[in-house]
Amino acid sequence: MENRSIPLVNLERQFRKHKSEILSVIEKVFEEGSFIQGPHLKNFEEHFSSMHEARYASGCSNGTSALQVLLQAHELKPGDEIITTPHTFFATAESMLQIGVVPKFVDIHPKTYCIAPDLIEKAITPKTRAIVPVHIYGIPCDMNAIFKIAKKHNLLVIEDCAQAHFATYENQFVGTRSDGAAFSFYPGKNLGAAGDAGFVFSPSAEVHHRVRKQIDHGRVDKYRHDSVGSNHRMDGIQAAVLNIKLKSILQWTEQRRRHALLYSERLKSRGFTVAQATPGSNPVWHLFVVEVSNREQVLSHMKSRDIQCGIHYPIPLHLQPALQFLNYSKGDFPVCERASDRIMSLPICGELTDGEREQIMDCFLEKAIP
Ligand SMILES: *Cc1c(COP(=O)(O)O)cnc(C)c1O
Repeated sequence: MENRSIPLVNLERQFRKHKSEILSVIEKVFEEGSFIQGPHLKNFEEHFSSMHEARYASGCSNGTSALQVLLQAHELKPGDEIITTPHTFFATAESMLQIGVVPKFVDIHPKTYCIAPDLIEKAITPKTRAIVPVHIYGIPCDMNAIFKIAKKHNLLVIEDCAQAHFATYENQFVGTRSDGAAFSFYPGKNLGAAGDAGFVFSPSAEVHHRVRKQIDHGRVDKYRHDSVGSNHRMDGIQAAVLNIKLKSILQWTEQRRRHALLYSERLKSRGFTVAQATPGSNPVWHLFVVEVSNREQVLSHMKSRDIQCGIHYPIPLHLQPALQFLNYSKGDFPVCERASDRIMSLPICGELTDGEREQIMDCFLEKAIP
């Protein structure tokens, strides 16, 4: 009998779908000893990038390191500034601060929760080098507006695609038109590994070469190092598992889209604010977010019925204790702050059933107030 509780993401069902293939490929990795580098990583790099029609691709250890090596490969230096959103996971800013680059936050759009392009120019200073849009919840940012500003001010655009595998903007996958993109395969992401893993798309052979070296000890060959890099490699086992899961990602994505549409229709008819797509985009709904005015009450009601919900994210980056030194204060980004107080995430994943979705909706609507 299946446990009747509903998790935010049903990784157990996802595993069951590919169980025999996953277990046998893990066995193969052990038999071959292809733990580091090796054929599975190469296959995955080729497969993931050819699906994107991207030329320069590198697997790496996680999404945070993917962002960091990309910034390093673009030669960002301590004191440089990057414009980004405060409405994201901590790692977006952390990857910058690890190399001394200063995140400058800009408020978000109230409907898409993505960075508001019309507020970017005011945040540009002589030290600004790049814009890092985050396709939060799998909703692509308003990329045309962002590219236009970047071009005008000669800034790089580096995408945080950690939540947006195979989302499209103007019919092209996110991560393929900019100066580089970072992906995460954290297990709960739309495409998840059996542990930590990440990926980088580079815009040119030159940046790609530097990304590769940064990931693998600045190596040019086994014992010759022509720069100081680090160890941010993806494990062979992760690549092998991802290769298998990649077969289902587009199907899982379509299921997420269907659930998001049906959630949206029902919730909007009851007066709720739900996350919306940027015009020209097709989101992949890593998270399905709805705003409520009595969040504590709704969350405890859902919990009492064994339905797992979340808040992504309750504390905006500019108000994080660790980032106090950046000197932001409450009130700086009112749209983001209001959203952070009201949002909650409902379960969504490729393996959610229609029955579960309706059960979640019924339970939510018993208590939630728009
Ligand atoms: C998950 C995530 C990251 C970091 O990825 P890890 O693989 O966990 O290091 C970065 N940015 C965003 C928006 C994320 O959701």
